[in-house]
Amino acid sequence: MTKHSRQRDAVYDNLCLRKDHPTAEEIYLSLKPILPTLSLATVYRNLSMLEDEGKIIRIGSGGTARYDADMSEHQHLLCEKCGKVFDIMIKCDGIIDKGAEKFNGKIDSYSVLYKGCCSDCLGKTNNI
Ligand SMILES: [Zn+2]
Ligand SMILES: [Zn+2]
Repeated sequence: MTKHSRQRDAVYDNLCLRKDHPTAEEIYLSLKPILPTLSLATVYRNLSMLEDEGKIIRIGSGGTARYDADMSEHQHLLCEKCGKVFDIMIKCDGIIDKGAEKFNGKIDSYSVLYKGCCSDCLGKTNNI
């Protein structure tokens, strides 16, 4: 196995093992101790390759993008206070068909991002 695919497997395994929807930087920091030659740019590159292969999903964009290896159908909530992403296990049945009625091209997928405040942050606000 080449060094490159080993690093990519490590990125993918790390993502599979966690449920906190990490950023590229968080994955990098947790792999750095076991892969000292790993760079943040490599993590970004591997994540975009895995995304292109349909193995992972990206939530959000830019430097704050978070990643998820759970490909079962679910949606996400972004807490606007702490920036954490939570799973919401619902299906939006028919949403692609409804979209297709309003769009002349082809729709392959969709994503819903709820925004709000998680229970931890809600608790903190209420205690002040
Ligand atoms: Zn929060
Ligand atoms: Zn998720």
